[in-house]
Amino acid sequence: MGKRWILKGKWIITSAEHPPLKNGAILINGNIVEEVDKAEKLEKKYPSLELVDLGEVVIIPSLVNSHTHISMSIFRGIAEDLPLMTWLKEYIFPVEAKLTRDWVYWGAKLSIIEMIKSGTGVFCDMYIFEPEVIRAVKESGLRALLGEGLFDFPSPGYGPLEKGLELTESLLKEFERDSFINIAVSPHTLYTCSKETVKKCISLAEKYQAHLHIHLSENAEEVSVVKERYGKTPIKVMEEIGGLNENLICAHCVKLEEEEVELLFKHKANPVHCPESNLKLGSGIAPISKMIRRGINVCLGTDGPASNNDLDMFSEMRTASLLQKGVNEDPAILSAKDVFKMATENGALALGFEKCGKLRPGFLADLTVVDIKRPELVPDYDPFALLVYSVKAGHISHLMVDGAWIMENYEVKTLNVEETVENVKRIQEEVKKVLQAKRCE
Ligand SMILES: [Zn+2]
Repeated sequence: MGKRWILKGKWIITSAEHPPLKNGAILINGNIVEEVDKAEKLEKKYPSLELVDLGEVVIIPSLVNSHTHISMSIFRGIAEDLPLMTWLKEYIFPVEAKLTRDWVYWGAKLSIIEMIKSGTGVFCDMYIFEPEVIRAVKESGLRALLGEGLFDFPSPGYGPLEKGLELTESLLKEFERDSFINIAVSPHTLYTCSKETVKKCISLAEKYQAHLHIHLSENAEEVSVVKERYGKTPIKVMEEIGGLNENLICAHCVKLEEEEVELLFKHKANPVHCPESNLKLGSGIAPISKMIRRGINVCLGTDGPASNNDLDMFSEMRTASLLQKGVNEDPAILSAKDVFKMATENGALALGFEKCGKLRPGFLADLTVVDIKRPELVPDYDPFALLVYSVKAGHISHLMVDGAWIMENYEVKTLNVEETVENVKRIQEEVKKVLQAKRCE
């Protein structure tokens, strides 16, 4: 049995379905939430236990960012106001061709610090040199579902595709029983990977009962390229090759036909809505309210910090909700609670961290503390509305993962912030040289 102690705060949100608990407290036993109740009840019941009173705060399950490429923080602001394909082909792919382990490692650390400071405790990432991301996550104490991005063309991370599949399999074995790191087989898209490649990925995922993480139907161009190649839309290709199931995490799903919404529902797939990235790259607006109404487990993600340009899940929740209200001309659509659920339990469930995303008894002690002493967060009639429509990244004072403080009173405890910032500034100069060399070609 771990250390038992009580954490108290003005509001506790245990899940989207339960009303906020005023003057509440959580009995934490090691890394587990043992009991949640009114503070005075727990104090009376357990008078000898240590009590930490955080005062004017809202304590919530830590947020889950279900789709990102965190190391791309080193490319934040590198190329702006461009269409997806130009952005990828003219800027991102050329600098990624020169990517090094060092860049990926420090870029990951920079983003993890940003996530910690904005209340995210679990995330899902796909990138090149993913073992470096794993190393950074391990140092940080966060939880994540991670996978090496797989392409048909050679990758600086592993060389030819076969080596990428081997790398993925070795990671699947290494982290099979890890409670912080889950591994996903991560083919990039249906236009950078052939159907045959994605099929191989599906078999590998099945062999280890692992997740498959892919971008699907991000914009009209992707859909038309895939349709031209296979005579079908991306979702239908995935169905044909047996890739639609509850272990599928499919980022974007912006351009969907009615039938495809039905397919995602039928096969229990997990689409990840990334509204800010979709807006910034001019990809369109995903039919989220339709999917949620149909009962699909829709998650929320920021996408990489080069197309967002931050990892702030509070801002993502707000954008997601406002966008659906606006396009549907209905203020009742995608309520604060709906979008909070997407950013917590839906993501946790999709990523294979079923014991995260809620602060109910038996769940893991993974939580975020929002400091509501700030004038812009007063008054607090409705804590859900406060979280989704008013709270910003800078209002997060604490983050706990597995019963341990990762950030306490705004101070990140597991990573060195200054050292990370200095290294990313050095990398910025190296990236600039690569772009200059490309221009001289
Ligand atoms: Zn992405």
